[in-house]
Amino acid sequence: MHIELITTGDELVSGQIVDTNSPWLMDRLFAAGELVRRKLAIGDEFEDIVSALREAASRADLVIVSGGLGPTLDDMTVDAACKAFGHEPVVDEAQLARIAAIFTRIDRPLTPNNERQARVPAGAEVLGNDFGTATAFVLHERERQCELFFLPGVPRELKGLCEKHLFPRLKARAAAAGVHRCYRAVKCYGIPESHMDQAVRPLLERHPHVRYGTRTSFPENHVKLLAEGATPQEAQARCEALEVEVRKALGRAVYGGAEDTFAGATLQALRGRGWRVCFAESLTAGLAASLLADAPGASDVLLGSSVTYATGLKERWLGVPHELIEREGAVSEACARAMAEGALVASGADVAVSLTGYAGPEGGEEGRPAGTVFAAVAGGGLPTKVVERRMPFDRNQVRRGAAYMALELLRRRALGLERE
Ligand code: ATP
Ligand code: MG
Repeated sequence: MHIELITTGDELVSGQIVDTNSPWLMDRLFAAGELVRRKLAIGDEFEDIVSALREAASRADLVIVSGGLGPTLDDMTVDAACKAFGHEPVVDEAQLARIAAIFTRIDRPLTPNNERQARVPAGAEVLGNDFGTATAFVLHERERQCELFFLPGVPRELKGLCEKHLFPRLKARAAAAGVHRCYRAVKCYGIPESHMDQAVRPLLERHPHVRYGTRTSFPENHVKLLAEGATPQEAQARCEALEVEVRKALGRAVYGGAEDTFAGATLQALRGRGWRVCFAESLTAGLAASLLADAPGASDVLLGSSVTYATGLKERWLGVPHELIEREGAVSEACARAMAEGALVASGADVAVSLTGYAGPEGGEEGRPAGTVFAAVAGGGLPTKVVERRMPFDRNQVRRGAAYMALELLRRRALGLERE
């Protein structure tokens, strides 16, 4: 199917916000077996939107439009769609009632602005919106053999509407054509994308019905597998056969599948041992604890984090000896070890992990360049372990990479996967 995406809004073309709707859509469409052919971001210019809609509809089978369904005058998608395809805007009474009910619930009067959000092109298939006020709709432009989904820009609403209306239709359409699909992801940490690719490529030849792709979400790398079959069972069996081989080939780098997150996998490992954790963070200033707290239920295992940027606090809060820092430096194996052991004692946690390093752009005096990070894990009934990494990345990537190092040390210790 030829699919095009159009995102609208001045925010998107003035550098104010980053378009997260299209990457999300493209990822999910890949999982549904569809590759997007073209995507366009366009400002709030009426004629530009009109011509973009016409052009996309003349090429594509499916156009997904995000944004501009709001109550304000810069929300002009409905009128642009009407002009592009020769429809009249009409107020949909059911949608007006739905919007009025929302305002009654939040105890606010309905303004004429809000009534605007019940307008749709005459003849449109009205989808409504269970996730907000703006009214989503579909135009079936039979002459152009194109279907256009008009969705709100607010990511939560767009996602909810796609899950409810768009993806089930794509699935049903494929099934009607005798094509069933199965999607799997194999998520990795600690392996470069090129190595991952090299490990997986040789496996593909024996699995001709599975499409393969990779995705980087720094510092993670993911393998994406999409299988087709004549029945759901056949698609699933094909996908799983390759998934098993991919997981085997990537070994220790694999932390989970499509539904998993790195924080969630770490949390699960810690929970499995009944361990409670404390962080001692220098260059990350709380980022490692925050990353773990991204996983729901973190309070079961996360005691806290001691953000000890200054040398004095490493000494006072964590009991790192003054002489040790004088002798070895604050960015050193010895300091990382003392920080983790100090945090373990101070917090009463079962396991503690520390981070110290140079986030950059400045490096250290001892010939340790920017991107040098030491991480240590103490407790859990094993000797303290320290690892050193050099990351040739920018400041924020080094800090994010360091937070991942800390979680990985915890995950491996909890799962008994440590390489001594
Ligand atoms: P609303 O009723 O909120 O006005 P709308 O359909 O008019 O809905 P927009 O006004 O285009 O949507 O966008 C609403 C908000 O959603 C924007 O301020 C922005 O924060 C966010 N948003 C819009 N488009 C995108 C996008 N492509 N990616 C990420 N966020 C977006
Ligand atoms: Mg708006």
